[in-house]
Amino acid sequence: MSDKKDYYEILGLNRTASKEEIKAAYRALAKKFHPDLNKDNPKLAEVKFKEISEAYEVLIDEDKRARYDQYGHAGVASDFGKEGFTWRDFSHVSDLEDIFGHDIFSDFFGRGSIFSDFFGARRWGFGQPEEYVKRVQVEITLEQAYRGISTEVAIPHMEICAECSGSGAAKGTVPKTCTNCKGKGEMQQEQLQGFGRIIKIGACPICRGRGKIIDHSCLNCHGSGEVQKLDKINVKIPPGVDNGTTLKVTADKAGGRLKEDIYVSLSVQPHPIFHRQGSDIYMEKTIKLTEAVLGSKVEVPTLDGNALMKIPPGTQTDTLFRLRGSGMPHLKGHGCGDQYVRVIVRIPRNLTKRQKELLEEFQTIEREKGNT
Ligand SMILES: [Zn+2]
Ligand SMILES: [Zn+2]
Repeated sequence: MSDKKDYYEILGLNRTASKEEIKAAYRALAKKFHPDLNKDNPKLAEVKFKEISEAYEVLIDEDKRARYDQYGHAGVASDFGKEGFTWRDFSHVSDLEDIFGHDIFSDFFGRGSIFSDFFGARRWGFGQPEEYVKRVQVEITLEQAYRGISTEVAIPHMEICAECSGSGAAKGTVPKTCTNCKGKGEMQQEQLQGFGRIIKIGACPICRGRGKIIDHSCLNCHGSGEVQKLDKINVKIPPGVDNGTTLKVTADKAGGRLKEDIYVSLSVQPHPIFHRQGSDIYMEKTIKLTEAVLGSKVEVPTLDGNALMKIPPGTQTDTLFRLRGSGMPHLKGHGCGDQYVRVIVRIPRNLTKRQKELLEEFQTIEREKGNT
């Protein structure tokens, strides 16, 4: 605790500074340490920016300042979490807006920005899991899985509502600080457990973790402060993907249209003819009795078009033929699987008199040969 810098010192103020002086000092330093204005060393600027904001949070608040003046850092430790001040504890976002303009929400508090812990607090309790944004399902046909395709995928992401700059309040209205949680968005609850007590921290039920109460919701975002936008990106699906294959699209590959990496999960539709097992393809082909008995060449569909398959004389029903290399491309490595064709011999029905005579003659000869 003791090695923490003095708040007045951080803001360059003496201990009798007025509210106006505190504001002015914070304003000047916020401009100086805004990470976006310190491109050469944004990390350091970020630390400094957080430091001055912590000092401001305490000194601008009469109650916190009084406790700080009397007890030092220990006097305000309970206002912050275990790890000390985080952006979640900062309750003067509107002052930052006054300094940097309303756009501060969009360029500042976006996901992945240095204020992501603050942003996380804002989103809190809204049931918007990260996964939702990061994973999208794309359904493709087996033919597309075979050839590979480039397809447009719409990635939903949440954006700060432009109408209300993220406040969630209707135009011309201002959100009020929640009195239940004093604007912190979270509540501590003590519970007795055995002989001990546990403290649970949860979202404030009144403001649902936002720290603000909105009487009239913004019509554009219905009070959530965020709207869903779709980023359309091109995803290249390589040949050979299977049901459940997951592709990672890194943000840099998406040509700057993604803020974070996304995962594309593929589901391959069942095919009316082909059945896939690994990189092999299975199908059934019905052939005529004469084709089976005398031998022939039959046309079978493949994922690539058609192939002529040789049926040797005397082919039995259920025989499995292999078309080498006509299966799915191996996703990793070279070459392709095989296509297996199960031959079903169709027994002719509705024979003519002549056909019957021929078959009876055939039977007679078989008997003479001793084949029963
Ligand atoms: Zn509240
Ligand atoms: Zn809105």
